[in-house]
Amino acid sequence: MKYISTRDNKKTYNFIDTFLNGLAHDGGLYIPRVIPRLSNDTLKKFSKLNYSNLAYEIIKIYTDNTFSKKELKKIIKNSYKKFDSKNVVKFSRVKKFNLIELYHGPTLAFKDIAMQVIGNMYETILSKNRKKINLVTATSGDTGAAAIDAVKNKKNLRIFVLHPKGKVSVTQRKIMTTVNSKNVFNIAVKGSFDDCQRLVKSMFNDRSFRQSINMSGVNSINWARIVVQIVYYFYSHFQLSKKNKKSVFSVPTGNFGDIYAGYIAYKMGLPISKLIIATNENDLLHKFLMNGIYKPSKVRFSISPSMDIQVASNFERLISSYYNNNSKKISKLMMELNSKGFYKVDKNILKNIKNIFYSNSINAKNTKKTIKSVYEYNNKILDPHSSVGLKALENYYLNNDKKSENLFCLETAHPAKFGETVYKILRKNPKLPIEISKNIKKKEFYKVMPNNLAKIKNYILTNRLH
Ligand SMILES: *Cc1c(COP(=O)(O)O)cnc(C)c1O
Repeated sequence: MKYISTRDNKKTYNFIDTFLNGLAHDGGLYIPRVIPRLSNDTLKKFSKLNYSNLAYEIIKIYTDNTFSKKELKKIIKNSYKKFDSKNVVKFSRVKKFNLIELYHGPTLAFKDIAMQVIGNMYETILSKNRKKINLVTATSGDTGAAAIDAVKNKKNLRIFVLHPKGKVSVTQRKIMTTVNSKNVFNIAVKGSFDDCQRLVKSMFNDRSFRQSINMSGVNSINWARIVVQIVYYFYSHFQLSKKNKKSVFSVPTGNFGDIYAGYIAYKMGLPISKLIIATNENDLLHKFLMNGIYKPSKVRFSISPSMDIQVASNFERLISSYYNNNSKKISKLMMELNSKGFYKVDKNILKNIKNIFYSNSINAKNTKKTIKSVYEYNNKILDPHSSVGLKALENYYLNNDKKSENLFCLETAHPAKFGETVYKILRKNPKLPIEISKNIKKKEFYKVMPNNLAKIKNYILTNRLH
């Protein structure tokens, strides 16, 4: 399995390069040179596997011979033992819609599913190569928590997590900041998530800084995260799809990582007929699907904060795929984005994208309404992100006469993680799992810092592992 950068399709990399570097040195994102298409026989074989064995088969394809069979099996086993579902995910149903509960991991969001595996991959790789690294990541609330839980108390690495001060929910913050571990550093940046992401990207693009801290990243641009997220698309389809029907997945979307994993599943041959980009008021991708113009604007703060994003980093990977990995073209578009603040794709490209993607932007009013109506329907409490996903799926269903599809919505977070918001809507407090509610009463550790690259770099340099 060879990888290339979206901005240079000549040079190839192996899995370890993509994993440890995160972002390619030319500023592009790593993508497989070719996405393997699975045969019908393989699909049939995969359809009979339990979650962990399926995860093994899929991750094996992309990690090639990075890990021995025994190592990879162990990584997966250790990663999912903290989940309170034997098969990692659980399913539930609201009317015609299947919900995939992805939040049964230690920090109550879907990001645990990939991050736990990544934490164990780091441990395995670093101890084999006697290397030490420093992870730096930006979070809109959930990535940070998932990453911290995945690497806390591990040897050979430290983690620095930048979150936008006051822009994550109280529970989200506490899950990150109450972890008392010597290798964990939380930084509350006075700015938005996009500011945090920009700071991290600048650090990655500063070669001497990157080298001086042996920097690595676990943001959703890390290819390994995508790989691990592919698994639940396959698993859900195999478990619940009715014979010969194709599947539709509605995905609450911010950075375009989760839904891009669905796209890879589609390219690998999973019968998917639509991927629904469900966004909150930060609707740049919804607008893109209407006019082919990708134009970030100012972030709007919503009740689904993990999707308050205007720079959907992984989207570059999708565009690259539709331009057949033409890295000259992608570099040009990204330069335009830098200089003009937007880029536009060709008409036929947009048409092709719309063959498989559908989008919907759901405002706060409809997000709340959906939480209410689902609760009234069967007492199920949705978190605001999942509610955006379900409403978008409902709209798709109403506007497209395709009753012959399996309808899935990814439930990306546990409602208790956004308990304050849910309480305002339902006058009910969703219950946190006991373990977590105990932990988050502990002392918080974080440093408040201005949105200032030099100061944050300096702080990281001072506290890095070396
Ligand atoms: C991160 C996150 C999302 C968005 O996922 P992307 O991969 O960034 O598109 C949606 N919902 C929740 C709860 C999240 O934490």
